[in-house]
Amino acid sequence: MPPVELEPLDARDDLVGVPAHPLSQQILRTDVAGMPLEWIDYKEAARLYHTEQVAYTCGSALYRLYGGTSARTGRRTVVEVNSIIATVGVTGNPGNLRGSAYVPPLNNQTLFRRDAHLCLYCGARFPYGLLSRDHVTPFSRGGKDTWSNVVTACRRCNNAKASRTPEQAGMQLIAVPFTPTYAEYIYLKGRRVLADQMEYLIAHFPRSSPLHERMQRFPM
Ligand SMILES: [Zn+2]
Repeated sequence: MPPVELEPLDARDDLVGVPAHPLSQQILRTDVAGMPLEWIDYKEAARLYHTEQVAYTCGSALYRLYGGTSARTGRRTVVEVNSIIATVGVTGNPGNLRGSAYVPPLNNQTLFRRDAHLCLYCGARFPYGLLSRDHVTPFSRGGKDTWSNVVTACRRCNNAKASRTPEQAGMQLIAVPFTPTYAEYIYLKGRRVLADQMEYLIAHFPRSSPLHERMQRFPM
């Protein structure tokens, strides 16, 4: 196979019926059973199309990419990339039940998104830079750095609480911390998640997912 040289098509010229999305728009990759796996960029998507690893697609057409000229047909190959693509092969999907062995890595970006950028003590919403990770049970009292022991807090509340439990500090959590399932974690990791991708991921959240309510009350 010749090296694939891809370039975006000018949206105004030729993308009839295909809404124009920037190439930075991420694509949701699932396994062949439709379980969400990861976000990929257009290059990885093109590679999967070209190596015939795409089993089927969902969602909507994002953009078209031109590849090299096919030796067989003499035509330039064109790949229309969808917002959701299901790929073949064994992937070892980490499962999607709360309490399954899978624990997503903890970082502030996904933690703050889990809590809808709200301080879980005062309930106010803050920009990323003004938020912090609070350990509900502090380290000094045996608390761990785990999803179920951390919440998003503004710096003021975090300082006020200091190394005390919420009870000792007389502060009350407005929501309960939880460990995201795999699909929830994929959602939290997404940048500019499209409506169809969001709908798809939500369908894979547990029915009892706290995110259902959080997303409705605090749209991101
Ligand atoms: Zn606060």
